[in-house]
Amino acid sequence: MSHPFLSDAAVGFLPSPVRDVWELSMQPGMVSLAGGNPDLRLNDLGWMEEAAARAIAERGPEVLQYGAGTGLAGLHEAIVEVMAAEGVHAAPESIQVTAGSQLALDLLTKLLFARGDTVLAEAPTYVGALGVFGGAGVVVEHVGMDDDGLRPDALREQIDRLAALGRRPRALYTVPNFHNPTGISLAAERRPEIVEICRQAGIPIIEDNPYGQLAFGEHRVPSLHSFDPELVIYLGSFSKIMAPGLRVGWASAPAWLRRPLQLASESAVICPSVLSQELARAFVARGGWRETVAGAAAEYGRRAEALQSTLLPLLPAGAALTAPRGGFFSWLTLPEGWSSAGLLDDAVDQRVVFVPGASFYADGSGERQFRLAYSLEAPERLEEGALRLGRALDAYAGT
Ligand code: PMP
Repeated sequence: MSHPFLSDAAVGFLPSPVRDVWELSMQPGMVSLAGGNPDLRLNDLGWMEEAAARAIAERGPEVLQYGAGTGLAGLHEAIVEVMAAEGVHAAPESIQVTAGSQLALDLLTKLLFARGDTVLAEAPTYVGALGVFGGAGVVVEHVGMDDDGLRPDALREQIDRLAALGRRPRALYTVPNFHNPTGISLAAERRPEIVEICRQAGIPIIEDNPYGQLAFGEHRVPSLHSFDPELVIYLGSFSKIMAPGLRVGWASAPAWLRRPLQLASESAVICPSVLSQELARAFVARGGWRETVAGAAAEYGRRAEALQSTLLPLLPAGAALTAPRGGFFSWLTLPEGWSSAGLLDDAVDQRVVFVPGASFYADGSGERQFRLAYSLEAPERLEEGALRLGRALDAYAGT
């Protein structure tokens, strides 16, 4: 949309395709495989009412006041504890609290890129990152993945190809654990290699890890951050393990980035919501959070299994479904020549929705792929959703 009063940049912001499908998923009787929302019924929120009331009663003038630009005192240590639970080690002073990791992405985009600069990202990638990059006029160049995640050979090739055109990417953006939208995790042995390739090419890495705590079973892999904390900017979030409405996330930043990131955050929001930060701090401080998160992750695992086991036998020859071991998503590739956007019409007729794959690419590919989110519906509803999807596949094949 353009208007004489709007800037050139205004046209770069596009509506989120996930939100469009979300509207459909709100229709009565629809099984939604669309939104990547945590199921807050699994997250033990009962204590929060009391914690919020207590925080206001006992420390109202602090938690309802403007707060420190880098985040609430005590929350940095709590975040370090959350990271350590995944084996990621960071110093409290490296942590910048942000209003969701989405804001961290937005701030990093401002700090690392000029309009027309290039970012590398997995093919496909997080739709919200595409939105931020698009809004800032940053060009996304995709790097191929396979079942073990981002391919080091494809990364090398893409960097060389761009170098031949005189273009040096300003960063690699990656979601190494239980990737959104595919559910795939980057194999442990690829991790040092990817950091090394970027180090040699002088390309910082944005490691976006909102799902790493949500492993269905054992998931011990080193973070990219652990191989070079001066090259890798690590993003985490309370959204999937606690509550996204609080809008509390963080960046663990290399020393060279800390001050600019703090100033950019202060300029954008002055400080993140102090009351929300107090609740995030209390979530960690009260103990038991690991068990709560593990319990939720086990339930997400049951949901993934319910969807997979019902859907797999219904797939046409030539289709492929990823088998996630954590997080919220699996990714379906349809046979050659099929269209996921076309299938969505049949799916809506059958009262089930998903997000078509083209939304997750900057280059218009993904036509025969789509994302299935299993995080929000109970296992029986997911089985029903899979059966409906099976009928939609039959209907599509018959037309
Ligand atoms: N990165 C990824 C990969 C995500 O999936 C999401 C949420 N869907 C975010 C970042 C943003 O999360 P937050 O709520 O912390 O802003």
